[in-house]
Amino acid sequence: MSVYVVGHKSPDTDSVASAIAYAELKKSMGVDAVAAVQGEINPEAKMVLDKFGFSVPETLTDGAGKKLILVDHSDIAQAPDNLGDAEIIEIVDHHKIGDITTNNPIFFCAMPVGCTGTVLKQLYDMNNIEIPANIAGIMLASILSDTVLFKSPTTTDSDKEACDALAKIAGISDMEALAMEMFKAKSAVAGVPAKDLIFRDYKDFDMKGNKVGCGQLELVDLSLVEDVRDDLLSALREVKTEGGRHTVLLMLTDIMKEGTDLMVVSDDNSYVEKAYNVKLDGPTVWVDGMMSRKKQTIPPLQDAFGC
Ligand code: MG
Ligand code: MG
Ligand code: MG
Repeated sequence: MSVYVVGHKSPDTDSVASAIAYAELKKSMGVDAVAAVQGEINPEAKMVLDKFGFSVPETLTDGAGKKLILVDHSDIAQAPDNLGDAEIIEIVDHHKIGDITTNNPIFFCAMPVGCTGTVLKQLYDMNNIEIPANIAGIMLASILSDTVLFKSPTTTDSDKEACDALAKIAGISDMEALAMEMFKAKSAVAGVPAKDLIFRDYKDFDMKGNKVGCGQLELVDLSLVEDVRDDLLSALREVKTEGGRHTVLLMLTDIMKEGTDLMVVSDDNSYVEKAYNVKLDGPTVWVDGMMSRKKQTIPPLQDAFGC
């Protein structure tokens, strides 16, 4: 029976690359592992797969009856549907430990580093398996993506060391050029419906019984979204209403200026104002230095909600 290696919903570069890279490692250890994604992958991930010669992995959205290895998440909300009818055999991640539980002991490897790709680099080394050049390429790309070329506060020395080693294996001499090529691909918003932009990199959280959603668009320049701000706001209002959410945030992150224009739709703005020590006079507020949803956006908001 095949084992599916799958990343989170709204697949980003790390979720896609890690599914492929870990499936490859498991295969070299004799496991019938298959990389999978939960739906359409983002433009950056597409660019990375094309560049290193991979096709998009097969789609898996329903876990029922399947053996699963989860990468880049450990939350039920981000995992395939019908998880209760799936058998989770491993989890490899770099986020806070989520709410997934298992009936049997499993291999669970989470490290406080900037990217699942960094954890996988260590698993390859631990198992003495050589990393193929094209796999090293997508692992490198995933770390550059998650750490925003080491600008994100989630970045650790392990991420930088992994990138140096992976770049050598992949034959990439200019990491920065690769990162800029990726960020430009990621910044593509023209012609994309506003709701698709919100869900491109989106997560829901439970905060003291309140459903709170947070999307993020990482942009090389905020001017890229100037013309679609009104559309984004209306779509964000729809997302809030349709999902019965208390609050929905959209992080318009300027990766060059290293900050976020935070778009907020909420039943009560005071939670957001308290969390980031800001005053909301309009639909958005600039939060200087905010780059990471995981480290800078979600924890203060959870604190404000009293989680
Ligand atoms: Mg991810
Ligand atoms: Mg990740
Ligand atoms: Mg990210």
